[in-house]
Amino acid sequence: MDLPVDADPVAMGRWPWRRWRSAWRRWSLWTLLVALVASTLVTMVWLAGRYEASQVQDKLERDTANAVADIRAALNRNLQDLQALSAVDGEPAEWKVRAAELLQVRRELMRIEWRDASLRMRSHAETPYRSVQWEDQLRTSNTHPEAVLTCTHARRLNGPAYSPSYFQLLAEGMGTEMMEVCLPLTQSGHITGFVIGTYSLQSLLMTQVSKNLPRTQEVSFTEPDGTRLALLGASWRGTRMFTAQQLLDLPGSTLVLRMDSWHRAPSVFPNVLTALVTLMSIALVSVVTVLVRDNRRRLRAERDLGDALAFRKAMEDSLVTGLRARDLQGRISYVNPAFCAMVGFTAEELLGQSIAPYWPPERADVYTHRRDRRLSGNAPPPREGHESIFMRKDGTRFPVLIFEAPLINAQGQHTGWMSAFIDISEQKRMEEISRASQERLQATARLATVGEMASLLSHELTQPLAAISSYATGSLNLLSDGQSATQDSEAALRLQLQDLRMAMERISFQADRAGRVIKSVRDFVRRRDQSRVATHASELMDAVLPLVNLQARKLGVRVSTELEPGLPSVLCDPTMIEQVLLNLARNGMQAMDLPEIVERDLVLRARRAAASAHRSWVEFAVIDSGSGIPEHVAEQLFTPFFTTRDEGMGLGLSLCRTVVEQHGGHLQHSPRQPHGTVFAFTLPAHTPAPVEQ
Ligand code: ADP
Repeated sequence: MDLPVDADPVAMGRWPWRRWRSAWRRWSLWTLLVALVASTLVTMVWLAGRYEASQVQDKLERDTANAVADIRAALNRNLQDLQALSAVDGEPAEWKVRAAELLQVRRELMRIEWRDASLRMRSHAETPYRSVQWEDQLRTSNTHPEAVLTCTHARRLNGPAYSPSYFQLLAEGMGTEMMEVCLPLTQSGHITGFVIGTYSLQSLLMTQVSKNLPRTQEVSFTEPDGTRLALLGASWRGTRMFTAQQLLDLPGSTLVLRMDSWHRAPSVFPNVLTALVTLMSIALVSVVTVLVRDNRRRLRAERDLGDALAFRKAMEDSLVTGLRARDLQGRISYVNPAFCAMVGFTAEELLGQSIAPYWPPERADVYTHRRDRRLSGNAPPPREGHESIFMRKDGTRFPVLIFEAPLINAQGQHTGWMSAFIDISEQKRMEEISRASQERLQATARLATVGEMASLLSHELTQPLAAISSYATGSLNLLSDGQSATQDSEAALRLQLQDLRMAMERISFQADRAGRVIKSVRDFVRRRDQSRVATHASELMDAVLPLVNLQARKLGVRVSTELEPGLPSVLCDPTMIEQVLLNLARNGMQAMDLPEIVERDLVLRARRAAASAHRSWVEFAVIDSGSGIPEHVAEQLFTPFFTTRDEGMGLGLSLCRTVVEQHGGHLQHSPRQPHGTVFAFTLPAHTPAPVEQ
């Protein structure tokens, strides 16, 4: 019963599992790829955010460092200006004018004082821009704590010193952080006085930093512990703040300049865009790389394929075996040049045909039937091939040997049949020639035997002929006696007639005998068609015995036969086997034809041989008591034209072996004790076909 493919138990068991596995592999690959792309995208967005933040932070750090540098430069410049105030030794009133001028250009300075070495006030000037509630009492005396402390420190350092910041009330009611700087004035190594400058930290920031401050930034002075002292900027506040701090290390005081920069949270969209563009670029580069590599690989594969095709083409063209492929519908799908040359049709004339034009019309039905059986899968092609007859385009027939094998594609599916054809017409011709020459050789050998026997025949025929002649003479005498005896008694006449009958009978017997002798030779010589018939061993021996006896009598050989009782018949061509027996017997007798051999026995034996391969065999042996075969002769015994006899042809044994082997048996020889040789050959026993019930 034909099953649909889906219902095929094998297919059901195997294909879904394979399909499921390949689908799973495909999907898992895609999932992996998507996950990879997504994670790369997220990583890239995150990295882009990080990069953006680090850029902002870096800029802020740079701005802070620049601001600190600016402030430090301003402080140093102011120091020089303060120094310059006292460089010209003059009256306090004059000093005050210059100090007031300085305060006009240096807005960060709130007040400048000139004190003597004991810190007593000599003169001072105040900024015109801010009104500060200076504790004048405290300031004019030499007890202002920050001033005293700073100048003490400056005296110790012998250079400018700054005070820690302190809070100072302003006139409008608010306050600001201030910082003092004390610059000792020296003359010939002695401190002659001090110049004290008072900075407003707020103003310092304003004059030095505000110029370059963007709206998103806030700058402040803080104590090292983080307490904010003065603040500037930041009208706009974002969601994310970046902070950078730089230490402003001054002799006697340490301030921290802190910059805060407000930013929006890094917006994801441009980052995603950037990441996507980057990703696309990476993907593009990878795809181009893969494409280039793939292209290279494809080119290599194409080249390999081209080479393989050229190789296949060269192989196909050099083949002498014809090749033909058929699909499952029986249509010809491929033929090679050798096949086209064999049948004389072009590939175009053959491809797609289901009734091949090289089928002889008279056999087309048989071939179609055979092809249909092959296609149905019911008749697997024989491994050793089968013979068939094809027709060339010119109509001539020729024999071919066909080998067929199923065509299986890369997926393991049966897609048709591939057949190889060998044109065996030449082989057949050679076989025919060889068979004909073999037969001619055998005929020649038989004729040679006959020639040899002609002398024996003449010798053998002399006896019956002499007997016939003498009986005939006797009969004639009796007849002439009978004429004269007519006058005598009737009894004497009857007696003469009786003698005459007997003589005639003897003549007839002797003539028969002579006839038999001649017939035996004629039967032997006459060529008959090869045919295998079941023949009993005794029949074979009886056929050759008269001829063997002819020679045996001449050479004084005693011939005997040994036949195992119940022997089966053998399947053979009797004429050929008789010739083998006769040849072997003749060789045996010739080997005994030596003066020193007195006991001349020739035995023709037939018995069962050991059975082999479910076949039983009969062994025929010709045993002589002759000279035996020396080793150097034994080596070439079966070589055609090898002989040790002057009148021999040297073909006997080689023909014997050919004949025996053609029958499926084999011929061998062995020495016989005390002297002589045994030539034995086997023939297959005839086993009658069982009778069907
Ligand atoms: P031919 O009989 O024409 O010589 P054969 O092929 O029959 O050719 O024999 C070849 C040779 O084998 C003979 O010449 C002989 O020397 C040797 N030979 C054959 N049979 C015997 C035998 N029974 N005993 C001894 N020698 C033999």
